[in-house]
Amino acid sequence: MVRKEDVAQKAVKLMNDQKNIRNIGIVAHIDHGKTTLSDNLIAASGMISMDLAGKLTVLDSYILEQERGITINASNISLVYSPDEKEDFLINLIDTPGHIDFGGDVIRAMRAVDGVIVVVDIVEGVMPQTETVIRQAMREYVKPTLFLNKVDRLVNELKVSPEEMQKRFVSVIAGVNKVIEAYSPKEFAGKWNVSVQEGSVSFGSAYNNWALSTHSLQRTGITFKDVYDYCKNGDQKTLALKSPLYSTVLEMVIKKLPNPIEAQVYRIPKIWGGDLNSEYGKSMLTCNPNGPFAMMVTDVIHDIHAGDVATGRIYSGKIEKGKDVFLVGTNKAAKVQQVALYMGPERVLVEDVCAGNIGAIIGIKETYAGETIAQEQIKEFESFMSKAEPVITMSIEPKSPKDLPKLIEVLKQVVKEDPNVRTVINQDTGELLISGMGELHLEIVQYRISEDNKVPITVSPPIVVYNETIQKTSPVVEAKTPNKHNKFKIVVDSIPKEIYDKLVEAGIQGKIRENKDEEKVRKLNEMGFGRDDSKKIWAVNNGCVLMNRTRGIIQLNEVKELLIQAFIEATNNGPLAGEKVVGVFVYIDDATLHEDAIHRGPAQVLPAIHRGIYCGMMQSNPVIYEPRQKLYISFPNEYLGAMTKELQNRRVKLEDIRTEGEESIITGIAPVKEMIGFSATGRSVSQGKAIWTAEYAGYELLPMEMQKRVVAEIRTRKGMEPVPKDANYYMD
Ligand code: GDP
Repeated sequence: MVRKEDVAQKAVKLMNDQKNIRNIGIVAHIDHGKTTLSDNLIAASGMISMDLAGKLTVLDSYILEQERGITINASNISLVYSPDEKEDFLINLIDTPGHIDFGGDVIRAMRAVDGVIVVVDIVEGVMPQTETVIRQAMREYVKPTLFLNKVDRLVNELKVSPEEMQKRFVSVIAGVNKVIEAYSPKEFAGKWNVSVQEGSVSFGSAYNNWALSTHSLQRTGITFKDVYDYCKNGDQKTLALKSPLYSTVLEMVIKKLPNPIEAQVYRIPKIWGGDLNSEYGKSMLTCNPNGPFAMMVTDVIHDIHAGDVATGRIYSGKIEKGKDVFLVGTNKAAKVQQVALYMGPERVLVEDVCAGNIGAIIGIKETYAGETIAQEQIKEFESFMSKAEPVITMSIEPKSPKDLPKLIEVLKQVVKEDPNVRTVINQDTGELLISGMGELHLEIVQYRISEDNKVPITVSPPIVVYNETIQKTSPVVEAKTPNKHNKFKIVVDSIPKEIYDKLVEAGIQGKIRENKDEEKVRKLNEMGFGRDDSKKIWAVNNGCVLMNRTRGIIQLNEVKELLIQAFIEATNNGPLAGEKVVGVFVYIDDATLHEDAIHRGPAQVLPAIHRGIYCGMMQSNPVIYEPRQKLYISFPNEYLGAMTKELQNRRVKLEDIRTEGEESIITGIAPVKEMIGFSATGRSVSQGKAIWTAEYAGYELLPMEMQKRVVAEIRTRKGMEPVPKDANYYMD
């Protein structure tokens, strides 16, 4: 076996030869064989023995992953492969999670790579998550290739004939291409389809270490017919010797996926909004290792010995040991203490890593996944944060109060590593709240705290995060300050869905200073707000908009900050149940202000505006929206009846029920609330044989007949009276 340090030495030599680099990811539906495939490729570099490949999941370094047999963290490894002993290639490989609750990890990994191998289990075919990961790759301009896995099962378990086998291939490839076509970037429409003839499809058995493609056939002479015979005769070992998986798949990667120089030409304009003609722009477009340094952090992990380790893609220049850099997001200078390459769970220190590679920086404390690190203050890379909102929250407490400071430290770390986790301290109660994408997501966070970091905690049952909004325009509300010296005319209205979606998509949040935030004003203008209206927008919060429609009230500017503050407070805690308010216009139509500033301080203006907004909302059909998940469940056919019934009881809207061989597959849209506890019952209904995943599917109106009850439940939980106050209460 080869030592990882030796591989790293070779990798370092190759790093500067960018045309021989491929940055790739492997994506798949859970259990389709990503990890097994990765191991085969790692074996090619000699770091694990070929016999163990497929039986030893090197990239699943997280204990929990091994316990559950699923991949949670994207891990990285750099491999060196020499297809014909003449030329060496450096392959930077990122393994990505299979569970959809951690979709954020896949998106981050996509930013670092230029190409993917989509793994599809030939027996199961294209699954909803196959579609999701292809869509994510397409969105990031990452080119696909296809590996059809578990071909041995077709012959040995399903006993299909060679003709049937071929038909199955054709249909699965067509299925994959349908998804690619649906989501591929416009300029690559039709060009990124995968095809056997062109060599962008290979097939084989990752577990048994063999694979074939058009190219391998030319090299080895092993044909489709041979495959069938070897499998049938139970001699896959010979097949693995004659047509090893790693050479077939790595050949496909080298021939069909772009090197960083080719890829950065079309990817940089999509992921970086800065001036492409600037020195930085040109250097990134050409992947210039001698240009100014720019990197995007795609992952941060905490190592007890090394501290924070930030992995990312270097788009320009070099990251060197001892270099001074600038953390663009946090606006801070920092020093790079060490630079490393990833070798699975371990790192190997190197002097530098240059443009077009994936490398790790050690010793920068304040960074987070998603940050731009550069030589100076440059425009940040586009955010890849998922637009998905955390939909479920639980409160946590250390079992022993003396652990509280440690718990807070651990939570900070968890958030750096996984931007889809949010933490807040409830100022009223001192409770620590953590929010995530689903019940299972929070389970993993919990495990990280109590098992990894050894802080014993108790957790509350998970709580769903609702939204509040309104359904119609309010009458004009006259809001007076407590001293009656100032009056504001306020109208609230609901924001049409198309505009709301655009606001969220554009990520506009917070105050807007007309003179300084040109970009925000421009975006609002593009969204359909007229040029003048865009300038009247003072703030956006949670997709709610505060607009000043008054004319000629000069003093209003003096209380502007207070109006914004009250608007943000009111839209963070709605009148119905203290949940976040979304999609509401707040118009300030008129104001009469006391001449003397002393009579229009915060104690006067804040409550007036806050109550005015509430008063308007309570007259505009206020309603609760609930978060929902796209659900995908597969289980043996015999449990179909029981499972359908269980799902209907949980208010799941069934979208599709189909069977693939022995398996039934249900997709549907499920309220997050109803899915709490499904892990347990879903498994018991199918005697532990169901596999399920869930993906954020936005918020929808909670059925009207449930509104009152849910409002009362939330309020009671928060220690409020069960029934919200009506508009009259906020009138004066
Ligand atoms: P991942 O969730 O996509 O990473 O999938 P894994 O690599 O963990 O594989 C899931 C399961 O499928 C494991 O039990 C593997 O041993 C099995 N598996 C992987 N590849 C093959 C294959 O080619 N043939 C068969 N029969 N099983 C396979």
